[in-house]
Amino acid sequence: MQKIIEFAHYLLKEKITSSDICLDMTLGNGNDTLFLLKYAKFVYAFDIQKEALENSYKKLLKYNNYKLILDPHENFDKYIKEPIKGVIFNLGYLPKGNKNITTNCETTLKTLNKALNVISTNGIIIIVVYPGHEEGMKESLKLNDFLKTLDQKKFEVLKYEFFNQINNPPYLFAIEKIVKE
Ligand code: SAM
Repeated sequence: MQKIIEFAHYLLKEKITSSDICLDMTLGNGNDTLFLLKYAKFVYAFDIQKEALENSYKKLLKYNNYKLILDPHENFDKYIKEPIKGVIFNLGYLPKGNKNITTNCETTLKTLNKALNVISTNGIIIIVVYPGHEEGMKESLKLNDFLKTLDQKKFEVLKYEFFNQINNPPYLFAIEKIVKE
């Protein structure tokens, strides 16, 4: 079976074409942005840590169709006015970085709501959730509650998880907008 990130990338790859704009809401070490750049026309990526941008620039040397933005993803709509086809939130803290700097449920939900409004019909939003740490568990609970309420006529919501693994393993949500709001 595909692991969580592999499956996230598989779903994005199925949707995205070379004319599409994508957003990486949590740049981190740039692996998801690097993946998106292979398929998308342009990628905007956000992080609140300078370290994340520095780490990522080194990985993205081959590409020039991206913009890394040192600003919380809550502000993404200040920067992007074009139609958005694919979005990834890979939640939590920077791997090998400061574990106290992490995404949190209030801002994640706020940004997700904005993204649900502006994403194109047939566009996809992937959220990789890490309930194995305290803030991640809070995000997980809020996201489960919220995503259950999305109108099934407008959005398809998929949850992909390894059901029998111990210690609250990561899992993903994939949300596709099926009808223009
Ligand atoms: N996508 C990354 C990769 O491929 O390496 C992994 C992302 S990492 C798990 C989560 C990142 O989210 C951290 O680098 C953290 O600084 C960032 N982050 C936390 N809160 C944020 C916010 N409000 N806006 C943007 N980034 C945020």
